Amino acid sequence: MSNFKWCHGPKCHEDKTQDRVRGTKGSKVLRTRKVKQHTERSWYRPNDFMNYFCSVGCYNQFASTHIQRIVAIEPRNEPLETPINDPVKTDRGYYGQWEITKRGVDTQTE
Ligand SMILES: [Zn+2]
Repeated sequence: MSNFKWCHGPKCHEDKTQDRVRGTKGSKVLRTRKVKQHTERSWYRPNDFMNYFCSVGCYNQFASTHIQRIVAIEPRNEPLETPINDPVKTDRGYYGQWEITKRGVDTQTE
């Protein structure tokens, strides 16, 4: 049984690589790649975007093609803020650094 998804890259099937070549002589095609789903592995994460794309390039093409709809899912019209304590200067690092500790994080309401 195959456990895969087709790559969602809108131009995946246009990349000229040998592994995409399918079909019989005289009627060859470049086909969208399969993305194996390692659902039995402990490291498998269902929401990992790479479950849906064969490469970061295909992911970027998908995001660029659909960016308006993607950001419409969760519009960001105001910045989020993370409350912090007053930064404290430390002598760590070559130039010294500021130690910043969080007091909480904004949580998005639905
Ligand atoms: Zn792809």
